[in-house]
Amino acid sequence: MRFLVDAMLGKLARWLRLLGHDAEYGRDASDEELLARAAEEGRILLTSDIGLFKRALSSGISVVLVKGSSEEERLALLARRLGIRLEVDLENSRCPKCNSPVVEVPKEAVRGLVPEGSWRRYERFWRCTGCGQVYWQGSHWSNIEAVLARARELARARSSKAP
Ligand SMILES: [Zn+2]
Repeated sequence: MRFLVDAMLGKLARWLRLLGHDAEYGRDASDEELLARAAEEGRILLTSDIGLFKRALSSGISVVLVKGSSEEERLALLARRLGIRLEVDLENSRCPKCNSPVVEVPKEAVRGLVPEGSWRRYERFWRCTGCGQVYWQGSHWSNIEAVLARARELARARSSKAP
């Protein structure tokens, strides 16, 4: 799925990219620019702004009003509303920094690009085809999995209550 995320939801854009979605982020864009770009590029607009949400609806643009006080709640809402899978498969991930696809690269190719300790400890590495950032499932990875596990629980809990 392709998204355009408003400036308030930058962190959510990074999560969506990690989950494999094309999520552009309208950092300095006006409401008019966001609406025009969502329409032109066929992107689902994600916003926490009720005014922008209503304008998008009345313009026939696909839009989701994203509420929630944590990333887990926001991700659960998107899972429920759009059926987004809350699991990372790095084969399909996009770079959280720049939204370009990441590809797995041979370990030898990233020697010197990652800390020596990480290079020794891990076997699989992925590199962004856009900005060149290298990723691996390091010590931070359990935090990512924990957030997604909580989001999956919230999504299940809410959907079982709804008709
Ligand atoms: Zn990148």
